[in-house]
Parts: sequence; structure tokens; C-alpha cells
Amino acid sequence: MNRNEIRSTLDEESVRLSKALGQNLLHDQNVLRRIAKAADLHPADQALEIGPGLGALTEHLLAAVDQLTAIEMDKRLHAHLSERFGATEKLRLIHADALKYFRNTEVDWSNWKLVSNLPYNVASPLLVDLAAMPRGPQRLVVTVQWEVGQRLAACHATREYSKLTLLVACRYEVKEIFKISPHCFFPEPRVDSACLMLDRRPDPLYPDALHKPFTAVVKRAFSQRRKMMRKNLKGGWPEDQLDAAFAAVDLDSKIRAEKVTLEQFVALAKKLHDV
Ligand code: SAM
Repeated sequence: MNRNEIRSTLDEESVRLSKALGQNLLHDQNVLRRIAKAADLHPADQALEIGPGLGALTEHLLAAVDQLTAIEMDKRLHAHLSERFGATEKLRLIHADALKYFRNTEVDWSNWKLVSNLPYNVASPLLVDLAAMPRGPQRLVVTVQWEVGQRLAACHATREYSKLTLLVACRYEVKEIFKISPHCFFPEPRVDSACLMLDRRPDPLYPDALHKPFTAVVKRAFSQRRKMMRKNLKGGWPEDQLDAAFAAVDLDSKIRAEKVTLEQFVALAKKLHDV
């Protein structure tokens, strides 16, 4: 679908795009092809798309796989997609809020690849939820705001290194990232976007039981970014336990959270939770 086709489809369906639902639709065919290629899809792959919109990316995904599941929250767009793709049995369309859908359904997604131009307002919580799943998708190819992409790919001791970096990096590794200009979307967003390819870590950094404690440590550690991490953690654990854990991981008691590596956070969570 090019820009004119998107415009005329929206006119025909009397649909006004919603900012609140992050409806910036991709129309650049080269970018759409590049996103689909990054997923390296094969016909037998199980593919999932969140927010198919008018189906621009959906078309490319359907050309590559035998089965695609797509979750769209906007009922007008869901109705349009049902009509447009109704004839193909390859597509399972779900009308739902993807955040709620994932939180309320127990599915083993470990053989799935998720490919999506994510709505900007739910991108971060969705990625954190996907990383929290014990059996989350094996690959994520996601388009997000550039700044979110920078945080996902950040190294420690940088301004972008944050809670989001760690809560996704604990289960996923960024393998590829490329920039997408606002001109590739309709309407044009005010900022650049990034498409990232992330793969699930083949060797988990910790047992599933440590995910909640790890999350709790990271959230507390970053609760006040400018403060020393040990002060932020004080409300959560007794002082002597913190001292012992910091010593075991060889962390300076004055260190700030942004200087602590993923591996050190994992080691700290293990020490604080006896795993
Ligand atoms: N995939 C299309 C494209 O690239 O042109 C549309 C992408 S647009 C950035 C985001 C899409 O996600 C919209 O279709 C919007 O209605 C949908 N959406 C927004 N919030 C959602 C949610 N919580 N669950 C599922 N879909 C959502």
C-alpha cells in the first residue's frame, strides 16, 4: 500500500487515524520489505503481528509464511482487515488490546516470530511483558521511536541505559538496528523511528524463578537515577544483606545504577534472593 492508497482507503472507510493509538502507518515499500527480511521468515514459521493497521506490513508477512496471527485493537481497522483478507485462511485476526491479550492468555510463544510496527504508546510495556514471559517469542522485529530503540540497544554507563534496557536485555539480544525516516509514514511522526531485530537468548542468564526478583532489583535501582544505587535499594532489603551482596558482586557502595552491567545486576539479584 502506498501513501495514496492509504489516504483513499481511509477516506472510503471514513476512518480518521487516532494519535492515542499510535496510528502512523508505514507506506515505504523498501522499508516494509527490509522489515520483513529482517525476520528471515520461512513458510512453516509461526508469525505474529501486533497492530496490523490497514495491512501494509501484513501483506509482506503473508507472502512469506503459511500462518500469521494479527492482533488489532481498533475495531474500524479490524473490520477493514477482515474484509480485505477475509478470503485467505492464512490469517487469523484477533480484535484485542495486545497488552491485555498477552496478560490474559497463556500461550507458549517460543516458536513464534513477532514482526510489528508497534504503536508508540504501548511499545515499551509490551516489550517488557514479552521479555517477562517464560516462553516468549524467539525473535522480535519491531519498529519503535528512535529514542526507545536507543534505550533498547544501550550499553551501561551511557545516558540511554535504563530500566527498559535491562528488563528486555535480560532475555533478548539486539542483533540489528536501522533508522526509519518520518517520511516513510502517514501521517509523518515528529521523530525518527528504529527497526530492531532482537533474538531470545539461547542460554538463559538465570532460572525463570529469578525473573521477578531481578525485575524488582532493577526497578528499585533506577527509582532515582541520580542517587547511589545502594540508597535506592535500601527500602527493599536489610542493610546487612545489601552489604554482603554488594561485596560478593564486587560493587562499590557508591555506584549509580547506570554504571552497573546486566551481568552484575543478575549476580546481585541472585545474591539477594539466594538463587
Ligand atoms: N502495521 C501498520 C503499519 O505499519 O502500517 C500499523 C502500525 S501503527 C504504528 C500501530 C497499530 O497498532 C495501529 O493499527 C493501532 O490501531 C494498533 N494498536 C494500537 N494500540 C494497540 C494495542 N494495544 N493492541 C493492538 N493493536 C494496537
